[in-house]
Amino acid sequence: MSEEKHFNSNSGHGEGGESGGQSNGQHADHVSAAQEGTQDTAADGSDEAAGGKGISRRKALKYLGIGAGTLVVGSALGGYGYKRSLRIPAHEAAKIKNVRFVVAGGSVGGLTVAARLLRAMPEANVTVIEPNAEHHYQPGYTLVGAGVYTPEEAKWDQKDLMHSSMKWVHDAVAHFEPDRNRVITARGNVVEYDYLVVGLGVQMNPNSVENFHEALESNHVATIYDLDQSIKYNKLMQDFRGGQLVSTYPRGYVKCGGAPQKITWLSEDYWRSAGIRDKVEVDFYTQRHTLFPPVPDVDNAVKPLIEARGIRNHYHHTIKAVDVKGRVAIFEEERPDGSTREVRKQYDLLHLVPGFRTPEPVRQGPLTREGIGGQLSVDRETLQHTHYPNIFGIGDGAATGAAKTAATIRKQAPVVVANMIDMALDREPVAKYDGASGCPLLTRYGRCMMFEFDYEGNLVNEWIYNSTRETRMWWHFKVHGLKRLYRHAMLNGFV
Ligand SMILES: Cc1cc2nc3c(=O)[nH]c(=O)nc-3n(C[C@H](O)[C@H](O)[C@H](O)COP(=O)(O)OP(=O)(O)OC[C@H]3O[C@@H](n4cnc5c(N)ncnc54)[C@H](O)[C@@H]3O)c2cc1C
Repeated sequence: MSEEKHFNSNSGHGEGGESGGQSNGQHADHVSAAQEGTQDTAADGSDEAAGGKGISRRKALKYLGIGAGTLVVGSALGGYGYKRSLRIPAHEAAKIKNVRFVVAGGSVGGLTVAARLLRAMPEANVTVIEPNAEHHYQPGYTLVGAGVYTPEEAKWDQKDLMHSSMKWVHDAVAHFEPDRNRVITARGNVVEYDYLVVGLGVQMNPNSVENFHEALESNHVATIYDLDQSIKYNKLMQDFRGGQLVSTYPRGYVKCGGAPQKITWLSEDYWRSAGIRDKVEVDFYTQRHTLFPPVPDVDNAVKPLIEARGIRNHYHHTIKAVDVKGRVAIFEEERPDGSTREVRKQYDLLHLVPGFRTPEPVRQGPLTREGIGGQLSVDRETLQHTHYPNIFGIGDGAATGAAKTAATIRKQAPVVVANMIDMALDREPVAKYDGASGCPLLTRYGRCMMFEFDYEGNLVNEWIYNSTRETRMWWHFKVHGLKRLYRHAMLNGFV
């Protein structure tokens, strides 16, 4: 029975073709909708059938119902079709179902690849090596620091993210042995593979700032690059009654190169709303030559906005040490003539971002090389290791030169999966990552500039983003939408 007939047979009221139906009283919602329509018609005389102009409420509801139904069915079919499209043909999947895919690191990079492999081949043999029982949604740290998310909103149980078909080795990688196609874990397990994906990310490097740990233990210093520290930062920010904020941006590669700026700008806005802006000095010290060098168009747009708010930016300054007792941040400034000098800045609140490094098995193992800061040595397009063709890199730890963001992983994961499957099937790996990444730049509470960009720093998909405008819509998308995209699309392998 069609949807249309179903409606008719239960309406019991009608115009034209609908009038022949008999109500059997089973579908009360339909009956009442139809009755309402009839009453409206009688009341305002606007029913077409009654010779009036316009469209009756009943008809409008019917069209709305048809529209909504079509949308739901269309989306379901689209979703089903999309899901099917991620699969490889069954005869190919059968050929490689015993191939061992091992993923080192079960965060967003590793899990997106692992889940997508299983979308491609539900029978795939996928193992994930991850020591943590709790997964942190790191893009949420900024929002915890700003008091927009509670800490609970930035974490999930790792077990809830692991697909039932993934084998989880609940342990840490101690060594990679690529010449023997195996990984040794901290507890001495030996995990052998045919293809290995390395997604161990990057971590703060405490050695890059003298007195780093002592500083973070003090009452005037915090960093949003750690969940507990984000909670602390939020408290310090809220309790601040005036004085000097010093905010830092380090040398070298940085996880989410927008986060140190975002928390600085949100803090300033917080104190402005709290009515104490005139009691606060805000100074941002960055090693870079401008605020957002990877994307010049955004840099040009955001810099005047930030400067107009009285935030002082200091370029070519690298944080070197913290004098915790004296509350002094110590920087090295590179001068135009190439010389350097020490700059000391007193603080009442210090947002400290040190340098970053990869975890030890990558940094000190056989998978890196000279000149890339201990990152995984990969081809920046195929994401294949430069020396071991059956090893691929994903995410922050891979030396691609792309931004170290989850948005980057969304674009890299399909490339890694396609290339591994091609290789397993004895085909040339042809998929290429184009350097695309994205950034939600939170400029103040309720406002965000959203953009995507390529390896050259050109804005892409501008027609969607209108990137150089701070909008409320993109703020809501960042706060409410991106986390769902991460959790439900990426971690389920739908990207
Ligand atoms: C403050 C902040 C704000 C951010 N904002 C954004 C944003 O707005 N948008 C955006 O797209 N991105 C943002 N990011 C970046 C994003 O979170 C990272 O790019 C992303 O988490 C990188 O994923 P990954 O899988 O490469 O590494 P990670 O997420 O760092 O995960 C590495 C995984 O490897 C595991 N691991 C480490 N060592 C070992 C070992 N020896 N053996 C086995 N496993 C190991 C870890 O436990 C971890 O699970 C932000 C990050 C931070 C910190």
